[in-house]
Amino acid sequence: MITIDGRADLLSMNLTELGEFLAALGVEKYRAKQIYGWMVRGVGFDGMTNLSKSLRERLAESAVVNLPTIERRLVSKLDGTVKYLFGLYDGNLIESVFMRYKHGNTLCVSSEVGCPMGCRFCASTLGGLVRRLLPSELLGQIIAAERDTGERISNIVMMGIGEPLDNYDNTIKFLRLVSDPDGLDIGSRHISLSTCGLVDKIDELAKLELQITLSISLHAADDETRSSIMPINKKWNISSLLDACRRYFDATGRRISFEYTLISGKNDSPAYAKRLAAALKRGLYRNSRPFPIHVNLIPVNEVAETGYRRSAPEAVKRFCEILSAEGINATVRRKLGSDINASCGQLRRSSLAAENAADDTVDD
Ligand code: SAH
Repeated sequence: MITIDGRADLLSMNLTELGEFLAALGVEKYRAKQIYGWMVRGVGFDGMTNLSKSLRERLAESAVVNLPTIERRLVSKLDGTVKYLFGLYDGNLIESVFMRYKHGNTLCVSSEVGCPMGCRFCASTLGGLVRRLLPSELLGQIIAAERDTGERISNIVMMGIGEPLDNYDNTIKFLRLVSDPDGLDIGSRHISLSTCGLVDKIDELAKLELQITLSISLHAADDETRSSIMPINKKWNISSLLDACRRYFDATGRRISFEYTLISGKNDSPAYAKRLAAALKRGLYRNSRPFPIHVNLIPVNEVAETGYRRSAPEAVKRFCEILSAEGINATVRRKLGSDINASCGQLRRSSLAAENAADDTVDD
């Protein structure tokens, strides 16, 4: 059982586990469904009005409903995208982004506070890993955003702060909880998980045969360039990563998605586009029939600390055209919330910087 400061973390449980926990406390069986229903609608013990005050007090002694608080909310005037800065029980901060697409509302969720992976272009990893999120904290982002917007979220992308496969057990627990018909009931086919390429964990995930979409942060097609921007490539190189993608496809039958961030002067020339097409084809066609893929091109979001600049629109267009001409299915990602700094990690960073500045003022 997951506990927080010695109390049971109810939102990290499924309905059966909650029932067993309540039974051990001597609470009537039918209460589990009531309590579960409140929690997934974002209501804590105080708001559970069909429970007696004494029962609520008794529960609060041994358990918590671990929901985040909304510390800041930025709404895009351009497309209605909402960016949340959520506060966790221990004061840590994470971000989620609510996006409206034709196919339904999508929430981009964080999986860790900070990130240990060290990708050079990324704001989330600048301060390293602080801690991994609990299943309740992964789920809580969706519950809180649904409650705040009053709208249902039908799709999830695990592309916020952190590396989901570095928080493997809690991520799997979350994937099971979120698709549970007793809970939020968001089907696996509506969930994408993005990873920088932890090959051992991709293999573990493949064995579960979940129907989620695996999204691989590739960003370079040769090991020298990839290792220079993504330290993980020194442990698992491009060829071993593509082999793992093949095994994932063989196990699940799911198309694999690749993300390629275009950084001006680093990986965005026509020669790099050809190199990417060649590397993908080499990886895809090795041994057996090719597996279906899609490449998402993302002009890099500029993060002051990294010094990387986004590619010019003509370079992006050209890159995409070369891939298409080579027979690789590629699109340029539409950017939502560009007026609210909606990309990952930047709001948390600026908020931490503001806190530090405030501390400095006090010290002075
Ligand atoms: N750790 C996971 C998921 C989080 S990042 C992963 O690496 O996939 C989600 C995506 O945003 C990844 O593809 C990541 O490489 C990309 N990303 C990070 N910083 C970025 C930036 N400054 N500009 C564009 N994409 C970025």
